Amino acid sequence: MVMRDTLEIKRLHLARLEVGGQQWPVHGFVVIHPAGALLVDTGVGGPDEMLSDWRAVNRTAAEALGDIDMSPADIDLVINTHLHFDHCGQNAVFSHAPCYVQRAEVERAKVESRDLFDWFGFMNARFELLDGDAEIVPGVRVIATPGHTSGHQSVLVSGTAGATGDVDVLIGDAAYTTVQYGGPEDGKLPPGQAADPAAWRASLQRIRSSDPTRVHFCHDTAVLHR
Ligand SMILES: [Zn+2]
Repeated sequence: MVMRDTLEIKRLHLARLEVGGQQWPVHGFVVIHPAGALLVDTGVGGPDEMLSDWRAVNRTAAEALGDIDMSPADIDLVINTHLHFDHCGQNAVFSHAPCYVQRAEVERAKVESRDLFDWFGFMNARFELLDGDAEIVPGVRVIATPGHTSGHQSVLVSGTAGATGDVDVLIGDAAYTTVQYGGPEDGKLPPGQAADPAAWRASLQRIRSSDPTRVHFCHDTAVLHR
């Protein structure tokens, strides 16, 4: 474990997907923390036919980490916002690290996407199962934000770059982009944004009401500033 005294968030460029004729980026994030390096979401992986359905232009997590002069061995801990193929696809690369996920999300994935669940071989993962909100390391919390999936979680990082009071949200897919984050609640949602619209709206409201300094998205390179 590499000790550092700053708290920093670094963006990874993991893949691109084609959604409704548009190119979507896939981002993960590394939180550089005094206690170690945390990876939030591991990128795209899955059976070939699935990747070709999504016209995935994929990179290995190792390649993406190389952009920020890191390697998979530097990652001490993984957090999955949820278990869709573009967020946990390369979990296997980080089998040396504990992986924090909501118990409800593992149960959902088992039932809703059994084939993918088996493909990933999740049974061998070092899952640390969470039941709701939890502090992972000091200043890094996950909060349950169901709606996109029933076991979705988002990550709140306090005090980046030494600024006490700053809160960065790594939102996962609780909002795909700045548009869904800021848009009217009755606005038309992209396919898949909300499996449960009422829960989705409540989760988004919860995130907004935490008045984050910055919001970072998995499918939008833009960062929303307060
Ligand atoms: Zn998703």
